[in-house]
Amino acid sequence: MVKAALTPGERAVARCDVLGEPPFSDESGLLYRPWLGPGFIATVEAISNWMRQAGMSVRQDSAANLIGRYEGTTPDARALLFGSHLDSVRDGGRYDGMLGVIAALEVVAGFHERGERFPFAIEIIGFGDEEGSRFPITMLTTRALAGVLEEDDPVAAFAELRDADGITVEQALAGVGLTPRGMATARRRKEDVLAYVEAHIEQGPVLEAEGRALGVVSAIAAQRRFEVKLHGQAGHAGTMAMSLRRDALTAAAEMVLAVERIASAGDDREGLVATVGSLRTWPGVVNVVPGDVTFTLDIRAGTIARRDVTVTEILTALEDTATRRSIEMEILPRENLLPSPCDPHLMTRLETAVADVTGQPARVLVSGAGHDAMIMARLVPMAMLFIRCERGISHNPAEAVMAEDVNEAITALTRFVRLFAEDYSKTQGRHSS
Ligand SMILES: [Zn+2]
Repeated sequence: MVKAALTPGERAVARCDVLGEPPFSDESGLLYRPWLGPGFIATVEAISNWMRQAGMSVRQDSAANLIGRYEGTTPDARALLFGSHLDSVRDGGRYDGMLGVIAALEVVAGFHERGERFPFAIEIIGFGDEEGSRFPITMLTTRALAGVLEEDDPVAAFAELRDADGITVEQALAGVGLTPRGMATARRRKEDVLAYVEAHIEQGPVLEAEGRALGVVSAIAAQRRFEVKLHGQAGHAGTMAMSLRRDALTAAAEMVLAVERIASAGDDREGLVATVGSLRTWPGVVNVVPGDVTFTLDIRAGTIARRDVTVTEILTALEDTATRRSIEMEILPRENLLPSPCDPHLMTRLETAVADVTGQPARVLVSGAGHDAMIMARLVPMAMLFIRCERGISHNPAEAVMAEDVNEAITALTRFVRLFAEDYSKTQGRHSS
């Protein structure tokens, strides 16, 4: 019986599925692919072979990033970069990160099959440690390639970090013949690279809710985190009259609801989200009015301005509640991450490509989650394409995509490269005239 050939989208999904099991996972029955583990090394080997079949030369840089290169019409041409991460959290999904690499591979395989070349090279990068799934640090290999490793994480600060088995970053690198100090030499020169484009599953429910296969990212969210400490008065649950209580937990309850109400009032296109993810009470027993509560607050939006207006509104609401309930409150700032805006011109081209392929104007959305792209944006103009995933579930074995969506993503990225080539020829023409 003759089996119909797989579409590029079907092949991409099938490859991600193959890579979801041993020997490409370090555990059987679930996917766990920590940076530089046996599954990771086997994965690099498998993808290297697929890259060679797609007409690419393959190397690993000094940070163990996997890099496939499809040459342009001239040797040493500058490169348009595609990429995402190869590592996976424990019990993760098969498409987070991996799909961005494998889908880009299908784009290049198509060019190779048709003998199509561009005045620039195309490189696909498989990054190593986006998830921080092995060591308590993330995106070392991305930072190395983007040339910001030492600025963000001096060698002394990361070389001795240990995984769950007590192995240091330095020892893990030594296992593949690399060193922490040598990682920084993976740095790419700005003059050798043109742009970075990352396809990734949305990891959220927006595209599915709107019945869309693809979305174009406008920015990776600006993030702020706080720890909020409430101090009331603990007391006997049986004897302390309701009118006399200073209950830290009922105050916290009011505050959590205020956070939800304020964040919900925003336009979801602004990517505004706010979450209380952890809450602890003291003494935390059945017969004592809670005297102390500590909770976390995580606020994200596509722009600093939108985020900080909301931060102010939320903190004001918290203060009102604390004052009214005679609760002492301490708000401790924990993190303040800048947004990574996508390059407007690349976004326009990606939007055109998506509209051409899907037949409807592209949905533009903010990425609430962090990605390799936010580090790469510090080296080169960056854009991201989101692919719908089932129920927005990620970091979970239930993560799922539809092959038709992936096929549309591959077609859109292919169209994007051709649009990019048109722009590139024009600028080159201007330079040489
Ligand atoms: Zn990811």
